[in-house]
Order: sequence, then C-alpha cells, then structure tokens
Amino acid sequence: MNFGFSEEQESFRNELRGFAAKRLAPYYQSDDWAGRLRPELIGELAGVGLTGMRIPPALGGQGADCTTTGIACEEVARADFNACYLVLNAALVSEIVAANATEEQQARWLPPIAAGQVIPSLFLTEPELGSDAARLGLRAERDGQGWRLVGEKTSITLGVYAHAGVVFARTGGPGAQGVSAFFVDLDDRYVTRAAFSDLGNRSIGRASVHFDGLPVGKGDLIGREGGGFVQVMKGFDYSRALIGLMCLAAGQAAVDDALDYARERVAFGQPIGRFQGLSFPLVEYATYLRAARHLCYEALWRKDEGLDHTVQANMAKWWAPKVAAEAAHQALLTFGHVGYSDEVPQGQRLRDIIGLEIGDGTAQIAKLVVARELLGREYAP
Ligand SMILES: Cc1cc2nc3c(=O)[nH]c(=O)nc-3n(C[C@H](O)[C@H](O)[C@H](O)COP(=O)(O)OP(=O)(O)OC[C@H]3O[C@@H](n4cnc5c(N)ncnc54)[C@H](O)[C@@H]3O)c2cc1C
Repeated sequence: MNFGFSEEQESFRNELRGFAAKRLAPYYQSDDWAGRLRPELIGELAGVGLTGMRIPPALGGQGADCTTTGIACEEVARADFNACYLVLNAALVSEIVAANATEEQQARWLPPIAAGQVIPSLFLTEPELGSDAARLGLRAERDGQGWRLVGEKTSITLGVYAHAGVVFARTGGPGAQGVSAFFVDLDDRYVTRAAFSDLGNRSIGRASVHFDGLPVGKGDLIGREGGGFVQVMKGFDYSRALIGLMCLAAGQAAVDDALDYARERVAFGQPIGRFQGLSFPLVEYATYLRAARHLCYEALWRKDEGLDHTVQANMAKWWAPKVAAEAAHQALLTFGHVGYSDEVPQGQRLRDIIGLEIGDGTAQIAKLVVARELLGREYAP
C-alpha cells in the first residue's frame, strides 16, 4: 500500500500550485463578473503544458498518466475552477482521439490542442436528450464520399469559444450501433451558436450549437462508422474521476478559507473557531473531501495500471461533486453575512461546482452504472 505520489508528481504539483496562485486565482472572480473567456488564458495554460496532458510528447503534449492529470485538475481548479474546464476538455477530447484515431489523424488534430491554438469541446447532449444519449438524433446525412451534419447539440461547455470538437451523430439506424463520432472543425459558415445564461461557469459558458449541413469526410471519422458509442466511449469514464477532483479541489479551497476565517473572526469574545458547533461541521466536510479524493485517485491509479475502474470512477462522479457542493455551502455559512457577498468567492464556488453535479452525467446515471456492476445489468437496465 502506498498513499504517496512520486517525487516527480510532487514537484509538478508544487510548481503548478505556484503558477495557479499567481496566474489563475486572481482572475477567478473577475472573469466570472466579466462573463467571458479571458483571451490570454488558453495560451497561459498551454504554456505550462496543461492543454496537452494526455497528448504524446511526439505530438507536442506531456504524455502524462491519469494520476498526474488528476493533480493538474486539482491544482488548477483550486485556484480557478472554470479555467480547469480548458484542461478537462483538452484531456477528454485528446484521450478519445489518442485511443481511437489513426496516426495520421492524431498528427493532424492533437498538436494544435496541445499548443492551445484549438479549444476543443465534446458534443453529445441534444435538446431532447442527455442521460439517454444513445438515442441521439443529430443526423450525419450522406453526401458523396462524406456526410453533412444536421441538427442541434446543446449544453456544450465552451460551446461559444470552441474551434473544434468530437461530435456524436447518427450515421445508421436506431440505438447505440447507429452512432458515429467525428472530429470536426466548427466552420462558422455551417454552425450557429447561442450562449446560455447560467448559474455558474460564466467565464467559459455553455452554448447550444446548431449544425446547418457542416460537411465532414471519411478522414474526420473517429474509429469505425457506427462505433461512436460502443468503441469510442469505452474505457472513457476515468474522466469522471478528473471531474471529481476538480470539484473536491474547489470544495477544499472553500473549507480552507473558512478555517482561516474561523481563526480570526471574533464573536462573544473569542475566535469563532473555538465554537465546536462551527468547527465540527468543517471537520466533517474535510473528512468527506479527503475520502472522496482517495476514491478519485484510486480510479485514476487503476486506469494507469490498466485495471477496470468503472465502479470507482462512477462512484466518484455521483459522490465527489455532491460532497464538494455541500462543503462549499458549509464554508459559505462560516463567513456569516460576508459569505453571501462577492467579497469572498464562496458563493461562486458553490454555483460553479453544482454544474458538475449534472455535466458529464447526473448522480442517478452514475449510480445506474455502479448498480449494473454490483447487481448485474438485468437489475439496472
Ligand atoms: C455545467 C454543465 C456542463 C455540460 N457540458 C456538456 C458538454 O460539454 N457536452 C455535452 O454534450 N453535454 C454537456 N452537458 C449536458 C449534460 O451532460 C446533461 O445535462 C446530462 O447528461 C443530463 O442530461 P439532461 O440534462 O438532458 O437531463 P435528462 O436526461 O432529461 O434527465 C433529467 C433528470 O432525470 C434523471 N434521470 C434520467 N434518467 C434517469 C434514470 N434512468 N433513472 C433515474 N433518474 C433519471 C436525471 O438524473 C435528471 O435528474 C453539460 C451540463 C452541465 C450542467
């Protein structure tokens, strides 16, 4: 048993913590107020390798393992939860491409992601369906040797800013077997975007993206035709542990700030930290955050070892964002009236974390996946 990180991972974490404190944390709230992606952010993240974590070094990436990618997500999200979506999206999309695309395709698509020249998004959800994604309806209509994409994707993180992405579309009949995955350039002549007005994640945003006949060729198909779900999405759920760490880091930052405040704020002649009614809930959340973090790292470690990690990753997906949101809520209350204002980022952390109780699959869907593993598929269809 070893609960430690390697020396290399520890020094990566330390370096990243310094970068994030200086270059990310100061903008967490102001970017939210501005409600837009700060143009220089992607370049800054790319400059320290954060957009190429899961991209091979030969293609300009870091070639990092999943555990180290988890460290990156924690450190970035601790300082600026929303900046971490750029790291997460790049890791998700490049993982799909690296695992399923040909060498020629990888050489075409991955270096610009690593360099921060291309912001990628993942296009799965549609207005009529999210959880039940295998029923998706965006059409890939035959057009000569290729296809044209017709239909709407919605709730797409970074959808306003993305240059490219993995789009799931129906090339065949009903069900999962009729779905293919394409890597597409979002040519604005064939794509219309509409930004959401959201509770959180305001600096990176979500959007509805309408595909008005965007042409795609055989060379844009990832894996085989009809393999979009069965092939491309297989083994992909480790990302749920990255999302867990992202949320836990923001929850931990909220609790850490609350502990600092509890040492200083005085009520009834003593620091409020001396009231166990105040300190014990913080202790409880610090405990839950730590336990959920172990679960996330176990999932990532298992993926790195080539072991099955579906149960751990999906346990992490339902539990970590929930614990993190509850911890952020408790931390907000610790600040009294100040916690409810923009003077501190507690309220924003809570708003931002809640998004990932839904994004990438809700708690119910993650529990359904775990139930299939624990009970058997016939009991959790
Ligand atoms: C912050 C954020 C970021 C997102 N980013 C992206 C993105 O980048 N790309 C993308 O494609 N999508 C994205 N999404 C969409 C997200 O993946 C979907 O919202 C999610 O999968 C749920 O789908 P839905 O909203 O259609 O809810 P529905 O599927 O309509 O579900 C509604 C409710 O019913 C519950 N439910 C559904 N089926 C069951 C069942 N069998 N048992 C019990 N309960 C059930 C759900 O848990 C939910 O509570 C994002 C969403 C958010 C909030």
